[in-house]
Amino acid sequence: MRSPPLCWAFTERLAMMTTATTTRATRIAGPPSNRNLHRGIIHRTFAHQNSSADRKDISKNDSFPEYVQKPFFTFEVLHESKRSRARACKITTPHGTIFTPAFVAVGTQGALKAVPHSVLDDANLDLMFANTYHLLLQPGHEHLQKAGGIHKFIGRNRPTISDSGGFQVFSLGLDADELDESKSPNKNNNGNNNNNNNNGERNHGGTGTKELKSRGKTKHKQQNLLEKVDEDGVTFRSYRDGTTLKLTPESSVQAQKNIGCDIILPLDELTKYDISLQELSESVDRSHRWETRSLYEHLKNVKEQAMYAIIHGGVDERLRKKSVEYLTSLPFDGYAIGGSLGKNREELKELLQFLMPIIPRDKPNHLLGIGDLPSIAHGVRMGVDSFDSAYPTQIARHGTLLSENGPVNYRKSEYREHFGKPAEILGNSSGDDECKCLLCRKHSLSYLAHLDRANEPMAWSLATEHNLHFMGRTMERHRQAIMNDEI
Ligand SMILES: [Zn+2]
Repeated sequence: MRSPPLCWAFTERLAMMTTATTTRATRIAGPPSNRNLHRGIIHRTFAHQNSSADRKDISKNDSFPEYVQKPFFTFEVLHESKRSRARACKITTPHGTIFTPAFVAVGTQGALKAVPHSVLDDANLDLMFANTYHLLLQPGHEHLQKAGGIHKFIGRNRPTISDSGGFQVFSLGLDADELDESKSPNKNNNGNNNNNNNNGERNHGGTGTKELKSRGKTKHKQQNLLEKVDEDGVTFRSYRDGTTLKLTPESSVQAQKNIGCDIILPLDELTKYDISLQELSESVDRSHRWETRSLYEHLKNVKEQAMYAIIHGGVDERLRKKSVEYLTSLPFDGYAIGGSLGKNREELKELLQFLMPIIPRDKPNHLLGIGDLPSIAHGVRMGVDSFDSAYPTQIARHGTLLSENGPVNYRKSEYREHFGKPAEILGNSSGDDECKCLLCRKHSLSYLAHLDRANEPMAWSLATEHNLHFMGRTMERHRQAIMNDEI
């Protein structure tokens, strides 16, 4: 039997862990599904279910303020295709503009691994993702605050987005051996030029459990570092030193305030793919409560940051609709699509087909953790504005170049003596669409293969730069096709 694509397998493993954990945790019943979504009702429900000082503050307010577009974060639709829901837009942030549809490269630790940030500008990729979980543990969010925020600290004065840290924390429960095997470079990317084979990875802007584990101490390697999920938040142990830490909606937002990305995300709960509808419904309610707390914390001190809601509900149409109705009643700046996105690409497609038409078009949206080309192409036609994934950079370090003809495994023996231009294999050998990366301009696949065999880090730099350029060109083509009403 053919194995499912790794992206979906990864999601399922993650999900199994999540369910096991939440089953242990004390659950608080979610709000009734048919409740009135009036803001005041939401707040009373919220205050009733929670008792900390912060939550009492919320009960004093009758409602959140009406949403008003902020001067530092604007959204403009440049063109809507006449052939589909696809749209080309412009998002303005305090650190520059983002043209959509956009691919968002993942700079987990405030770095792209193997290449400098300037590669993003050269590749025409506006937005970079940073992972709060990793930055919390090293160097610490207070350190970034002292440095004046992430833009100053990493020396990139361009738009950035951070997640809540929750995804990686939930990922800590994954079976280490299973994940390691699934992401083994040799098994992950076998150079098969088939777009349907291992060309996507569901890692939610992340990364990096493999990287996590590979940097973790041996004594923690086989342990489940996720300790408890309850109404207040999620408790886990640091992979670095075993210290017990707790992430709550409030602490996640505070950390993201100190990190200082232009766009931030609320804390949410992750669920496995095939849990019962009742379990999924309870999880969606919990995510809504956590997101409400996150938004409240964010609005206490906006600091020129925008916060996107994260729409949940798995592949259940009714729950996704309920999530959209609830979250669009709150003054978020945009909408991310999170949670389980299905067990395969076909289910993601079905999900987007019923979900995208009900997401309001007056704010930007983002599809979390999807970076494979067919899913991006479909998402663009359905009206998705941005996508993030570590996939293009991760596979580059493990032997795969993206190309016009499908993924190319540069470790294959047939390329050891390919001394000509890489474009002969990778496509785009001439014209404006020519790949401008260093590999394609100056080197050969033979040289790349040699560097890789010699374990020279330059191999990973060249391959990463190429894949980022490829993603930049792909998104530019999508934008052009929308402007010309071709898709
Ligand atoms: Zn190139």
